[in-house]
Amino acid sequence: RAKASGGHRYELFNEPLRQQTRDRLGLRAALRRAVGAGAVTVAYQPIVRVGDGRLETVEALARWHDDERGEVPTAEFIAAAEETGLIHELGLQVLEQACTQVARWRRVFGAATPRVAVNVSPRQLLPADFAPRVLTLLDRVGLPADALELEMTESCALEPGARAALERFTAAGVRLAVDDFGTGYSSFAALRERTPQAFKLDRSFVARLPDDRPTDAIVSAVLALAQHLGATVTAEGVETDEQLQRLRELGCPQVQGFLLGRPASAERIERDWLSRPR
Ligand code: C2E
Ligand code: MG
Ligand code: MG
Ligand code: MG
Repeated sequence: RAKASGGHRYELFNEPLRQQTRDRLGLRAALRRAVGAGAVTVAYQPIVRVGDGRLETVEALARWHDDERGEVPTAEFIAAAEETGLIHELGLQVLEQACTQVARWRRVFGAATPRVAVNVSPRQLLPADFAPRVLTLLDRVGLPADALELEMTESCALEPGARAALERFTAAGVRLAVDDFGTGYSSFAALRERTPQAFKLDRSFVARLPDDRPTDAIVSAVLALAQHLGATVTAEGVETDEQLQRLRELGCPQVQGFLLGRPASAERIERDWLSRPR
């Protein structure tokens, strides 16, 4: 653009762009302060067994309330954290909070306590000390390894640098889940090498249920594949009774979405799901 307009290169730095750059730098600085202060919190969303409505897992989702910006969308600050490298510290803080919380629930509510699923970005798996730090954390808070599930996208599982960490986790008994399954570059060769314990069917598929034939076929195929691999499936983004009904008919074992429950505070999960018999 600057070239086409001859010498008017200043157009490249027009006011909206300048503003955007300022916003982005401001967001990064504020995020750095928030992570430094341990101000990022965690919300928990129920993942429910279709057969009997039992709470199987809670997914930990990072939340950041900034005084100036209000509630910052998670995708936005996670992207900023990935770009700046803050994701390492932020990710460990989320793991620490989530594992501590669920270990506490296990002491109070016993074996019926759900597992906890925590999202990890590809970059988090690269440093050699990541897996040892997480395993030490589990030890310290007293959470069994198989009560933790790490959710990662397909690209993450394929990242060559992530291999060592994934092997450490699997050997220790930590579960792996492929997040947003069906939207990335799934390769059957990768699944052959490392079978995850769970697939999370992306909500773009669920959104097209119940009357879209290709979607029905894809969902059925994913369910069959998972079953043959000995893995479970969670359908993400279930918002309507019709979607839940169709997923039940297709034999989907687990569901997650606003219909079942929105991401909520630990207190709220405790009150609505753990304290009362279902
Ligand atoms: P995700 O792991 O796929 O998480 C599911 C997202 O879908 C969450 O958005 C959740 O609030 C939203 N969701 C759940 N049920 C429904 C539904 O029925 N309808 C709709 N429309 N949305 C639903 P959220 O919390 O904004 O998180 C966005 C993404 O940010 C997550 O997607 C995950 O990839 C990433 N993320 C969140 N927390 C962390 C974290 O601690 N570390 C890392 N690395 N990434 C995180
Ligand atoms: Mg997830
Ligand atoms: Mg997901
Ligand atoms: Mg998703």
